Amino acid sequence: MKSPFRTCREVTALVLGGEDRPLRWSERLAIRFHMRICATCPVFARQVQLMRQALPRWRAYSDAPQPPPPGVSTTN
Ligand SMILES: [Zn+2]
Repeated sequence: MKSPFRTCREVTALVLGGEDRPLRWSERLAIRFHMRICATCPVFARQVQLMRQALPRWRAYSDAPQPPPPGVSTTN
């Protein structure tokens, strides 16, 4: 059986990955476990959560980049 311990890098990758795909229960457990013993990752996870709440369009935009509507001239 795999150790429940994860490094900060693995946990942050899981947190970000959880934005795009459902996590396994073992992954969720590893995150929760790590959050109890780490001071940095909970802050990071909270920032991700706040960003997700504050910018709902950002996620939709990043998930499905849309081509510019026809007829709109992009003059910069
Ligand atoms: Zn950590």
